[in-house]
Amino acid sequence: MERTLSIIKPDGVAKGLAGEVIGRMEKAGIRICAVKMLRLTLDQAKMFYAVHKERPFFESVTRFMTSGPIIAMVLEAEDVIKKNRDLMGATNPKDALPGTIRKDFATDVEKNVVHGSDGPQTAAQEIKFFFSDLEIQQ
Ligand code: UDP
Ligand code: MG
Repeated sequence: MERTLSIIKPDGVAKGLAGEVIGRMEKAGIRICAVKMLRLTLDQAKMFYAVHKERPFFESVTRFMTSGPIIAMVLEAEDVIKKNRDLMGATNPKDALPGTIRKDFATDVEKNVVHGSDGPQTAAQEIKFFFSDLEIQQ
């Protein structure tokens, strides 16, 4: 069993897409083992996206991530990192396959509804950023 971190970003929460996104995950056989709603501070958003700090979109995306509440979740399934990334679709909705969350709901390359960890190491790191062990259902 593998775990990954998923976030419904401020645009997804504001558009009322939480049920839709979680429904797609559950239909794909993914188990939600932790969930919380919170609003990031700018410092927290910069820490979360630190890997992108030299990129031109860093300022904008960190501001966007603080623009409203988000829903952070720990997902569990076999091969769930890839399964979740497949459900999400490409970063830019223009490149995302039909039927993916980003193709169906994203506004643009920044406001793209969902985050998903991109590998086992980032998944472990990102899960720890949001959740303590006690908050994750076994
Ligand atoms: N992003 C952006 N412009 C870009 C690339 C990324 O605004 O050209 C934002 C977008 O919200 C994306 C996030 O920064 O989801 C993190 O980028 P990454 O390349 O890690 O994409 P992801 O893993 O989310 O598909
Ligand atoms: Mg990424």
